[in-house]
Amino acid sequence: MRTKPTSRPNPSGRSRGCAQLDRHILGYRAYLVERGNAAGYVRNCVAAVAHLSMWMKGASKRLSDVDEGLVAEFVDKHLPGCQCATNARYPSTVRAALGHLLVVLREANAISPVPLDITEVGQELRRYDQYMEQVRGLAPKTREGALRIVEALLRKHFSDATIQFDVITAERVRRFFAAQAKNYKTPSSLGVVVSSLRSYFRWRATLGDRTHALVGALAYPANWQLASLPKSLEPAEVEQLEAALGQGGPSMLRADAMVRCMLDLGLRSGEVACLSLDDIDWNASTITLRRTKGRREDVMPLPQATGRRSPSTYVTSDRRPSTGWSSPGT
Ligand SMILES: [Zn+2]
Repeated sequence: MRTKPTSRPNPSGRSRGCAQLDRHILGYRAYLVERGNAAGYVRNCVAAVAHLSMWMKGASKRLSDVDEGLVAEFVDKHLPGCQCATNARYPSTVRAALGHLLVVLREANAISPVPLDITEVGQELRRYDQYMEQVRGLAPKTREGALRIVEALLRKHFSDATIQFDVITAERVRRFFAAQAKNYKTPSSLGVVVSSLRSYFRWRATLGDRTHALVGALAYPANWQLASLPKSLEPAEVEQLEAALGQGGPSMLRADAMVRCMLDLGLRSGEVACLSLDDIDWNASTITLRRTKGRREDVMPLPQATGRRSPSTYVTSDRRPSTGWSSPGT
């Protein structure tokens, strides 16, 4: 009877590969079959693992050596000049097959867990994930999505170098957002990019980084009802808007304060409308958002420029301190 050379034990009884690894091949095959993979795909994957196993034996590698680095060495260095008696050497197939193998071996506690990303970006993402989980109580799926977007931004600008927020200008954030927009089909799904980046920049602001302007650089995309409105203001339009501020009268002072909160702090229009002067702590230079979209309280530092230029001017006019922006009679 014909046998599949790559998926049956060697008839000689002697393992042609790394015996420690070969003991996991049955479990590996079962893992792939349970997930509904086609028989041909399973055969190719098992052949790739058998190939790896043969190479490991020749290179005196042990099962405990198996990790992402060993897989990369096998795929990138061994495969291009491989002379082994196997057809399982197509790089993308082998890489995918060995990706499954790492999962199976880790589930069986046969190899070390996923190595920690020790780059600064990796450490930053772990800190931010901890904040989202422990302080904001966000669900794993929400955190995962937000991390993916923040990671794309940080890797683009820093790769594995030191993170410096003065490198990420508002213009770069807008360009990154425009590039991301190509990956999303609807304005509402693109809104996730905006909210993820805004939340991240706000978190960095609470840690003392000057990221307020970056929060303001991101505008939610218009939905279809508002499609005729611009998605965000161009720099020249922002300048025009700023030039229109600073005119006399309580009502203009209020408009000034509201616009500054949106430009400097990146607050949503609804958040500005709900803001009360009691939400501003002048001594601590913070502003508390009590009715955010996520129904949580967010405390943000009040940038000196914003405090100096607008809400304080507004307060020192003839308004009562506990009056909100949008109270009647103004
Ligand atoms: Zn080979």
